[in-house]
Amino acid sequence: MQTPFGEISVIDAHAHFFSHRFFSTLAAELPDSSSDVDIYPALRKRLSWEFPETDPARLGGRWVAEMDRHGISRMVLIASVPGDEDSVAAVARASPDRIIPYFMLNPTSDDALARVKRAFADLGLKGICLFPAMHRFHLWEARLLPIYETAAAYGGIVFVHCGHLKVGVRDKLGLPSRFEMRFANPVDLHGVAKIFPNLPFVIPHFGCGYFRELLLIADQCANIYTDTSSSNDWVRFMPYPLDLSTLFAKTLQVLGPERILFGTDSSFFPRGWRKDVFDAQVQVLEALHVPSPQVAQMLSGNIARLLNR
Ligand SMILES: [Zn+2]
Repeated sequence: MQTPFGEISVIDAHAHFFSHRFFSTLAAELPDSSSDVDIYPALRKRLSWEFPETDPARLGGRWVAEMDRHGISRMVLIASVPGDEDSVAAVARASPDRIIPYFMLNPTSDDALARVKRAFADLGLKGICLFPAMHRFHLWEARLLPIYETAAAYGGIVFVHCGHLKVGVRDKLGLPSRFEMRFANPVDLHGVAKIFPNLPFVIPHFGCGYFRELLLIADQCANIYTDTSSSNDWVRFMPYPLDLSTLFAKTLQVLGPERILFGTDSSFFPRGWRKDVFDAQVQVLEALHVPSPQVAQMLSGNIARLLNR
């Protein structure tokens, strides 16, 4: 892609795949949901989004076209409801050079380890996404260890959503989110990251409220990464002034450019790829006079390196 830093390949390391299964899971929670084949009437009443057909390939194609339109090389697409591994696997099979498939895992479910093994061994998925506040577990719990072990054995990546958690679509639908932030502190990851030094852990959104904690543990564990995704508007909850420029400057200082992954948190159509998020971040990097090679590491080099281990 042509950027103010020259021609740089861009890989979005954080976007969501809102599949038919994702929406049917939400629809089932709505009071007026029906068990009919068409899950969408109840959703359409509340959301003016495009809803995907059952075949995930169609939505996958939509994302590839979106990447082409913006000049994006590759994109991480996260299956965003537990049990949806097959959707992103199908999409990645259809476009192996463009789609990097990750999946949400609820590690408290009985079949969690079996799912992880199948995802890496049979489906070729690349990353596990954990949401401790959503599924109410601590990242250091013993039941998580075989999951980390398996991810490490397959050269996978573990994405860990810490900090403030808001699932916008649930709020829009008026669905309750019984999340518990006591599980969401990145400090929970400290011991685990030491046990698995070769397993990369990505804490998105600069820690999403736990910026200080992210910096503290990342300084001590070289396998802790962050991503820059979303508008990062959690900064408004901080008791001191904090903006995107400060986030980048301090993270560059503590983690270095090799542990920052560019991401947008794009998720639904018709909005599509969040060029506004990309532009805002590039503007900040320009103002900070970050050298082009470092920008290239953040925009694509780092995630490419992690995937090629
Ligand atoms: Zn996200």
